[in-house]
Amino acid sequence: MTVRKLQHNNNNVIFTTIARFQYSSEAQIVKGRLEADGISVFLSDNITIDTDPLVSNAIGGVKLRVHTEDALKAIRILESINQYSVDDEGQEICCPECKSTKVHYFTNVKDLKSLASFILGLLFGVLPFYTKYEYRCENCKNKFNIT
Ligand SMILES: [Zn+2]
Repeated sequence: MTVRKLQHNNNNVIFTTIARFQYSSEAQIVKGRLEADGISVFLSDNITIDTDPLVSNAIGGVKLRVHTEDALKAIRILESINQYSVDDEGQEICCPECKSTKVHYFTNVKDLKSLASFILGLLFGVLPFYTKYEYRCENCKNKFNIT
């Protein structure tokens, strides 16, 4: 296996996707927060999604990428600003299992171990199991998706 050949390599800078957003406005807010900490942020597909929001789900949302060397720092910042989630109307999202509203948006990559499996998932074209989930209940640890 030749890892280097498979990685997304652009002028010797390797990027890691650390979060996905359904709306580019949400991605822009997070982008601004990370840039305030000196992290270079690159959004992909946001122009397509702004043109046609219905496309967002089909192409996996707006992807937020950072230099891989900044990835862990960026993830820590994302965690620190990770508020309890609300839906599009601003209503708190309830866990379908225990009805708790202590629900976090569940980012794709939470720690070094999942970062490694996330990168492996990208390399082999299969996403790790946890990327299926968008939300996680803090009360009962249930992971679920809202459609
Ligand atoms: Zn729950």
